[in-house]
Amino acid sequence: MKDLVLIGGGHSHAIALREFAMNPLPGIRITLISDVLQTPYSGMLPGYLAGFYTFEEAHIDLRPLANLAQAEFYCDRAIGLDLQQNQVFCANHPPIRFDILSIDIGSTPATLNVPGAATYAIPAKPVPQLLASWHKFQEKVLQSPQQSRSLATVGGGAGGVELTLSIQAHLNKLLAPKYRKNIEYHLFHRSSHILSSHSRYAARTLSQIMERRGIYLHLNQSVTRLEKQPSERLKLDCESGLTIECDEVFWVTQAAAPDWISGSGLSTDNRGFIQVNDHLQSISHSNIFASGDIATLLNNPRPKAGVFAVRQGKPLFENLCLILQEKPLISYHPQQQFLTLIGTGNGKAVASRGRFGLGPLRLIWTWKDWIDRRFMDQFNS
Ligand SMILES: Cc1cc2nc3c(=O)[nH]c(=O)nc-3n(C[C@H](O)[C@H](O)[C@H](O)COP(=O)(O)OP(=O)(O)OC[C@H]3O[C@@H](n4cnc5c(N)ncnc54)[C@H](O)[C@@H]3O)c2cc1C
Repeated sequence: MKDLVLIGGGHSHAIALREFAMNPLPGIRITLISDVLQTPYSGMLPGYLAGFYTFEEAHIDLRPLANLAQAEFYCDRAIGLDLQQNQVFCANHPPIRFDILSIDIGSTPATLNVPGAATYAIPAKPVPQLLASWHKFQEKVLQSPQQSRSLATVGGGAGGVELTLSIQAHLNKLLAPKYRKNIEYHLFHRSSHILSSHSRYAARTLSQIMERRGIYLHLNQSVTRLEKQPSERLKLDCESGLTIECDEVFWVTQAAAPDWISGSGLSTDNRGFIQVNDHLQSISHSNIFASGDIATLLNNPRPKAGVFAVRQGKPLFENLCLILQEKPLISYHPQQQFLTLIGTGNGKAVASRGRFGLGPLRLIWTWKDWIDRRFMDQFNS
């Protein structure tokens, strides 16, 4: 009996588990270690914040999936690896032994080491923390809608832009029109334009939408410090000398990897992500695979986006089966350009692919909604 251990219930592992459920491999014992029971689907996360989806619609329940794949499920957090003894260390369980290991644990926002950020900001990941803080903030707003408040987002990539537009749209739906002006929104980005890795069209269009909706865009601004004031409000300082007082700060900066990955001895890139070859296999440890945000494809590096974590699900499953059967592995080549559909929180979306863009259109949102629901249906049916 060989032991296959999966750490994290990210997009690729959800797909791999579904494949194992439909195509069981004899002689294999599968263990899933996940720190959550329901894992968020990134495509629907901003729509969930905007109030378009329920929690269940925007999350994949890992329990039935693990059950169908006949996998043992440890709801726990992996905190380290012993690569000599082939063991995973968990926060609350004894070490778990593996013959083959696969890691799909996503990423967390970088630069949380900016003084005060780790203490006072709300990081976009882990998602359960983000959602808990968001629900708490909504409650506060509803309890005293007459109070003036200010919300800041740090990071002007697709995640930060979509999050800001989604929360503004949702709060506008919750609040009576006379109270809507009581909330100010700020977005800080260190480059000269938002959405640096998307088309100029998408960057320009979404900047215009944000400006039209009264969101203050602070471009070329690097946040250097967050401090709590005696008034309980947060003071946000930028390198340029700009200072803003706000009540909540969402931290949606570039992706970073947890320290225990590089600390384990796996070969990582300069940002701590696991370096993998075209088989999604660690370049330093051939019995370890990685996919999604936590992996960096040595030959074809791509931005950290859910679309790649999804696309890697099937090749990962195939290679896990092949290595367990001691057969040659297949190669995975990610697409050069990828389509991004960015929701504006009000039932419209902007499409961006390579140098091209389209929208905002209701039709693009309907299309995105159809794609996302179809993706989720495969785990429910
Ligand atoms: C606000 C926001 C909006 C976004 N919108 C989009 C979008 O519309 N489209 C898109 O393509 N991308 C989007 N992204 C990026 C996207 O979220 C990530 O690229 C994607 O989630 C990566 O998928 P993954 O499978 O690598 O990891 P994840 O989806 O992060 O899954 C990792 C899983 O592993 C679990 N885990 C983590 N650490 C451990 C541990 N130590 N032990 C056990 N379990 C662990 C986590 O709880 C989680 O369930 C967005 C990001 C943010 C922040």
